[in-house]
Amino acid sequence: MSTPPSLASGPEGPRALRPLLDTVLRALDEGARARGGPLPSGGPDAVAARMRDAVGDVLPDQGDPHALHSLVRALAENAADPADPLCTAHLHCPPLALATAADLAASTLNPSLDSWDQGPGAAELEALVTGALAGEVFGDGGGERRRTAPVTPAPQAAPPHTTTGTTPTPAPTPPRNPPSALITTGGTESNQLALLLAREAHGAGVRLVHGANAHHSLPRAAWLLGLPEPVVVPAPAGVLDPACLDEALRQLPGPHIVAATAGTTDAGLIDPLPEIAALCAAHGARLHVDAAYGGGLLFSDRHRAPLTGLDAADTVTLDLHKLGWQPVAAGVLAVRDPGDLAVLHHRADYLNADDDTEAGLPDLLGRSLRTSRRPDVLKIAVTLGTLGRSGLGRLVEQVCERAAEFAALVHDHPGFELYDPPTISTVLFRPAHATDAAVAAVRRRLLTDGRAVLGRARLDGRLWLKATFLNPHTRPDDLAALLKLVEGNTPG
Ligand SMILES: *Cc1c(COP(=O)(O)O)cnc(C)c1O
Repeated sequence: MSTPPSLASGPEGPRALRPLLDTVLRALDEGARARGGPLPSGGPDAVAARMRDAVGDVLPDQGDPHALHSLVRALAENAADPADPLCTAHLHCPPLALATAADLAASTLNPSLDSWDQGPGAAELEALVTGALAGEVFGDGGGERRRTAPVTPAPQAAPPHTTTGTTPTPAPTPPRNPPSALITTGGTESNQLALLLAREAHGAGVRLVHGANAHHSLPRAAWLLGLPEPVVVPAPAGVLDPACLDEALRQLPGPHIVAATAGTTDAGLIDPLPEIAALCAAHGARLHVDAAYGGGLLFSDRHRAPLTGLDAADTVTLDLHKLGWQPVAAGVLAVRDPGDLAVLHHRADYLNADDDTEAGLPDLLGRSLRTSRRPDVLKIAVTLGTLGRSGLGRLVEQVCERAAEFAALVHDHPGFELYDPPTISTVLFRPAHATDAAVAAVRRRLLTDGRAVLGRARLDGRLWLKATFLNPHTRPDDLAALLKLVEGNTPG
């Protein structure tokens, strides 16, 4: 190739992109048709063979101009498509077309949110959107909601636990317009940051107390951050038991950070947040709520009530790549007291020199532990702005309705057992009288045939099939088809 390949931005960008986008859209369409269902058929060996064929030489001596078409087509043919109504295993949402289109703009402009001079508008957009999202979580009693000026606060005081090897912290200056939410790569990173903020507020001895129903990323974050061994509080009914929490907080020396869950990954259950918040207040414990799944209920007037008490948390995890219909990644950590974020302040002369910051250039490094950082906020902002609260609320209500309808089908079918009526949009069920091995086998058979993608969950000592409804286009006959497939493929 004598001239370098075209760039996505710049004056030639649109002219270069348009035919490439046509190629991508054609390849996506061809791949989806070749797949013909929610998942490719044949299982891992067949997928591996098809992918090896499509990829050929990963780094050939001479490039292939058709690689865009062949690789996108192969990926689509071998995809699990969350837009297929029978693809219901995980909190794996079908992204909205408008969010994906916005993501194209993010990739094209490629602003990086580690310094203002790599994306001035993106930095401001992030400040606006994070402020508004924090307001949704905490209401007016929450952290400072500033509608202008993105700035990372400088530290107010030396953190109780300082790490070594970082740039020495400059003299503290009072925080200006602090943000009250951070954009993250998802629930895992949000939970990690929540525990980091707790450690910096209460010292390295802070102990994580979480329910047996908590997401696995929480104890893992405690391990990552070198915190004491977490305490697991029983959740006999699927939600954290407040009496057991009370006992744990009484018996174990503090300080504590309690992590509650609003929307468990398996059953979509919501911990009793007001009682947990009251116990945390009584015992002086910090409260984090992992609302990675359930946080989306905030958009719906009809479904928001179970989140009552969320605003008492110090930090809240939200995941808009679940009940927010965003392409991954679209995580949020909402922080009630924006002063807590001061400990993330960090200086690197080439990104936020003191004299630049003093001269008014916004300092972004303290808004993440990452350095180069995608403007994931753009697709979120486009979605919020296009749909509004009512549009998002309707999507939430639609998927919750689908789950309720599917649960009713299961309940009314003599061949099936329902775990519980759904709290959000997840339904756990199993063929009546089947063994755990038969439950596992029907799931794998449908996966291997590529006919349906169901999840699995072990609860109350038994294995359940899990259907997670995140597709607002799913229709009642899709639900019936899903149940029929399970019925027809259960061994024994
Ligand atoms: C999905 C989920 C997470 C992890 O989020 P990722 O975006 O996958 O990192 C954490 N907690 C809960 C309750 C979840 O459902």
